Amino acid sequence: MPAEVIVIGCGASGMAAAIAAAREGAHVTVLEKNDRAGKKVFISGKGRCNVTNDCDTADFFDHVMRGKKFLYSAVYGCDTARVQRFFEENGCPLKVERGGRVFPVSDKSSDIIRTLLRQMEALGVRICFDTRARRLRTEETREGVRAGGVISDTGEAFFADAVILATGGLSYPLTGATGDGLRMAGEAGHKITECTPSLVPFETKEAWCRDLQGLSLRNVRLYTEGKKGFDRQGEMLFTHFGVSGPLVLNASAYVEDARLPATYYIDLKPGLDEVTLDKRLQREFLLHGKKQFKNSLSSLFPARLIPVMVGLSQIEKEKSCARITAEERKRFAARIRKVPFTVSKKRGWDEAIVTRGGVSTADIDPSTMASRRCRGLYFAGEVMDVDALTGGFNLQIAWSTGVLAGRHAAHGGSVV
Ligand SMILES: Cc1cc2nc3c(=O)[nH]c(=O)nc-3n(C[C@H](O)[C@H](O)[C@H](O)COP(=O)(O)OP(=O)(O)OC[C@H]3O[C@@H](n4cnc5c(N)ncnc54)[C@H](O)[C@@H]3O)c2cc1C
Repeated sequence: MPAEVIVIGCGASGMAAAIAAAREGAHVTVLEKNDRAGKKVFISGKGRCNVTNDCDTADFFDHVMRGKKFLYSAVYGCDTARVQRFFEENGCPLKVERGGRVFPVSDKSSDIIRTLLRQMEALGVRICFDTRARRLRTEETREGVRAGGVISDTGEAFFADAVILATGGLSYPLTGATGDGLRMAGEAGHKITECTPSLVPFETKEAWCRDLQGLSLRNVRLYTEGKKGFDRQGEMLFTHFGVSGPLVLNASAYVEDARLPATYYIDLKPGLDEVTLDKRLQREFLLHGKKQFKNSLSSLFPARLIPVMVGLSQIEKEKSCARITAEERKRFAARIRKVPFTVSKKRGWDEAIVTRGGVSTADIDPSTMASRRCRGLYFAGEVMDVDALTGGFNLQIAWSTGVLAGRHAAHGGSVV
């Protein structure tokens, strides 16, 4: 008799789990509270879906923030090459962009979802939309607690040999991730680590950040001081509340709420060393000798940034370039390399790309994704205490853990 497997959640990890379990011969039913599959996948990558990252597996783990060791089996078992092959072989050609980020050639996340749904249909997976799982059906056995199915919001009972919790975390609740899985896992005896928004924009204290709303800076360095500080290069964006963009989102993954407010610095010219930058300023000031300082910086910064840099320079803005002293110039060069601003707090769940925290990985067997607390229960994706940086790494975690959970749930965790 094929095993009955229920997957709670038809998001990225739930779809991967359903396909993997069905390929192993299981009868699979997916319960999804929304009226369609993959709402979060649909909005991922700004609607283009950065489906994975084309890096080697060792490099992949450098981008994982929490759960690195825990994810070894899952990611080595289903790596980024395998995910890319799956989509390519099933009619969804992919392309690789800057930083190894992989997208569908069509630039449409809907093509990723369609490919997964087509596979599920071909494998006979049943999807029950508008069906919210409320609690797990568990029973006491001689070997301990066992999951035997799910009770829905309307009281309907679904029976199963194995249940896969793939409900996502708490980020972007409008997509369906509202923490139901965390509650259900907690009720079944699992430890839930503290959950906070990650890959999320920062609010800043300084008004000048907000004044620059809409300005994007490419190839800048964002850093903090101290041993365990953040230090990376990339792109950042000023917003009506502070700062965002890939560099800032990644910075948010490194900082705990308790450490805020904190001072961050922007290096506007990370490609120039001290001497080269000083020579560059010298050249500019020589060239614009008669011009006022405030009118001499257009080849150095975007127009909207100039008044801010003039304000931070401690050089009189009307001073002619010829009268700027070597000391003032050197101080200005140092400021260009170290523009300070204060991060007051992170934005909330509505804007977070992922959840930091979740079901403790200590309660999950990393080689099967099976619960150590409740037999017949498996986990996949963001509901667990695992997260990574931007660049396709979080979806890869969802695919890898989904596949591992699905394969083992199909055999009640005993085979494969
Ligand atoms: C705006 C945005 C952009 C992103 N872009 C990228 C990107 O480009 N690349 C990348 O790698 N990552 C990206 N991510 C992160 C990535 O989308 C997630 O990490 C990934 O979707 C997690 O997959 P999951 O299956 O664990 O959860 P989800 O995809 O959130 O799926 C969980 C599903 O479970 C359902 N569910 C929840 N509770 C219940 C219940 N009680 N009963 C039934 N169903 C339930 C939900 O409705 C949902 O459909 C992005 C995230 C956001 C918010």
